[in-house]
Amino acid sequence: MTSLPLVFDAPRRGRPPRHLADLDADGRRAAVAELGLPGYRADQLARHYFTRFEHEPARMTDLPATARDAVGGALFPPLLTEVRSLEADAGTTRKTLWRLHDGALVESVLMKYPGRITACISSQAGCGMACPFCATGQGGLTRNLSTAEIVDQVRAAARVAADGGLGSEPGRLSNVVFMGMGEPLANYPRLAAALHRLIAPAPDGFGLSRRSITVSTVGLVPAIAKLAAEDLDVTLAVSLHAPDDELRDTLVPVNTRWKVGEVLAAADGYAARTGRRYSIEYAMIRGVNDQGWRADLLGDLLAPRLAHVNLIPLNPTPGSQWDASPKKVEREFVRRLEARGVSVTVRDTRGRDIDGACGQLAAAGGDELMPPLRV
Ligand code: SAH
Repeated sequence: MTSLPLVFDAPRRGRPPRHLADLDADGRRAAVAELGLPGYRADQLARHYFTRFEHEPARMTDLPATARDAVGGALFPPLLTEVRSLEADAGTTRKTLWRLHDGALVESVLMKYPGRITACISSQAGCGMACPFCATGQGGLTRNLSTAEIVDQVRAAARVAADGGLGSEPGRLSNVVFMGMGEPLANYPRLAAALHRLIAPAPDGFGLSRRSITVSTVGLVPAIAKLAAEDLDVTLAVSLHAPDDELRDTLVPVNTRWKVGEVLAAADGYAARTGRRYSIEYAMIRGVNDQGWRADLLGDLLAPRLAHVNLIPLNPTPGSQWDASPKKVEREFVRRLEARGVSVTVRDTRGRDIDGACGQLAAAGGDELMPPLRV
């Protein structure tokens, strides 16, 4: 008898196991029925997950032991294994590097501000958008995350917040931003399902408010239109980084497909649908996109629109020639935008000493290069 080819023993890269968080209400009921459990267990499990942030059946002590065993492997396979967590900003910023079932690495960041706690999460392992200033963009795309791999980052963050793990009393996760690794709109079906779980009240989801969830995109125009039609009403952020196509073609390569004008028109369509303003993200890169005339051009483009500008001091990636704009240049950029009536904020630089929120932790490979854990 011949032995099976080795390939059957290889880990099935790219196929995360099914998890409760992948399923909607009907799917959950079907899954518990398959396991021979009564239908009401479906909502019981979901309440553990979405309201107590519990992902280990062994700790769901109101379930009979037989049911705990049955659901363990079938609905709660381990999705995210913590490689390490790093703290900064006096414990109010916590960045976690996760290893997925197939060895792929992703990261998420949890930040406590006065009045809100925000999780910054990843939608893909790696990213295919190739923006030259972004650490994740340099490594290319490994794979899309599953719905549950996205949702479980939020669960893990909510658990840390609830346990008082941000250097203070227990708190409630209030905001989620898709500004970790990946292009969320390039993983559309999984993203949309994850958004439904984030928004739905228990037992179907975490019950987060729609406007406190931000989806950040390079500007995939058809997907913006699709998201607008989905009635999810989450906040949209567009990574513009340049007001002119000539420069944006180089900073956000997908601009060669959808131009500045088309991207803004799609965002306008989104704003018209939700009635709320969108954000324009603009990384301030010294001598590249921070000239006064570009501020004027950006201001002219945005003045008639329902848009807000979020300037991000560039977080230089290892080996890059690029640096953040000087504060004086940044102030002048803000002044010119405000002179045109455009609202502007400058993002704070949380977690600089732990490699920011731009894929640098995963890019560093995890273990060897990181400073010791401080949790
Ligand atoms: N793919 C999505 C999410 C990416 S991360 C998007 O492009 O919008 C969220 C934001 O961080 C984006 O605006 C991205 O352009 C920006 N960013 C990436 N690398 C950065 C860096 N090194 N410094 C500052 N901002 C960066």
